Amino acid sequence: ASIKNWAGAPQELTEEQILFLTSGEMDKLYKKKKFACNACPVGCGAIYQFKFGDKQVEDSSRPEYETLGSFGSMLLNGDSLSVNKCNYLCNEYGYDTISMGATVAWVMENYNKGVFTKEELSGIDLSWGNPEAIVQLTELICKNEGIGRILNKGSQAAAEALNKGHEALVTASGIEIPQHDSRYGPGLARTYQYDPTPGRHVKGGLGISHGSQPPELKYNYTDTGEKDVAGVATQEMINAAGYCSFAEFGLPPQSMLKYLNAITGFDYSEEEYNKAGLRSFAIRYAFNIREGFRRKDYKISDRIVGKPPLKDGPLAGVTLDNEKLADNFFEALGWDVAEGLPTKEWLLKTGGLEQVAAAM
Ligand code: SF4
Repeated sequence: ASIKNWAGAPQELTEEQILFLTSGEMDKLYKKKKFACNACPVGCGAIYQFKFGDKQVEDSSRPEYETLGSFGSMLLNGDSLSVNKCNYLCNEYGYDTISMGATVAWVMENYNKGVFTKEELSGIDLSWGNPEAIVQLTELICKNEGIGRILNKGSQAAAEALNKGHEALVTASGIEIPQHDSRYGPGLARTYQYDPTPGRHVKGGLGISHGSQPPELKYNYTDTGEKDVAGVATQEMINAAGYCSFAEFGLPPQSMLKYLNAITGFDYSEEEYNKAGLRSFAIRYAFNIREGFRRKDYKISDRIVGKPPLKDGPLAGVTLDNEKLADNFFEALGWDVAEGLPTKEWLLKTGGLEQVAAAM
């Protein structure tokens, strides 16, 4: 997970803080019972209970990875109760925990740099890692009160409304970024920047597994295009078919094709399965194209690609060539590389996209 609004290193957190944010430690404190989707033998969820002010919360979901990162390491916060309270508030009020935690991180960085004063922030002391302040600010945003009235559209909209704090933004086309660090897994930068819904943690590409490659391979972008396209096709099918995103890590892609055929009665070949995935990607892209978006309009904050590079920690010195990754991707896809547009031939060859081709 990212640290201190993507500007910190692991040594800024103590081992104890990190340990407190593991599910093993949190389960000891808050777990009421296990939770699973219907008929799942894994059952990755848990229901937590804890005291929140005068209220006894009995049915809060165990925070997942992204939530632990965005309300934990991003804020230098090792207090698991505050993370659970924020998770509960976001679920109750319908906020995304990634965007909420990242927006709080943006405020914290600006407060600690003197860009925002305590008075501007409804009197809250947003020093790094202050658990009460994190909950207070999250609650104001959820309830649309005080500074929360400006922050509830996210960090980029707030920077524009307040006309300051832009330097600390960590967004892709205005959306706060998830907790898998692209400086560790470079392919994530292409996904975050150029997915038609940017800044998502469940969209396809080279994925987090790109990060486990040795540095001489993962920071060398000579052959990323085809693998990136294959990852997009697979993930589009996972999302469209409603597969569990955890199961995808444990099953080879071919087994998902077999399940899909068995359940639906289709008889997709592997090629047809991949084409269906790319068709889904292209249709999603087509909405943006219709609204006038072109490749140059997909923006990503410098920090996400290591500009400037971190000075400390395992990712020190890393700067990505995100545009080269994108060149490779669009080229392997067979689209117009400069504009990020599918050609008419590509749409017709992929099949089922005649209406999209006609509209373009
Ligand atoms: S998210 Fe996936 S692994 Fe977790 S309970 Fe649901 S189906 Fe099972």
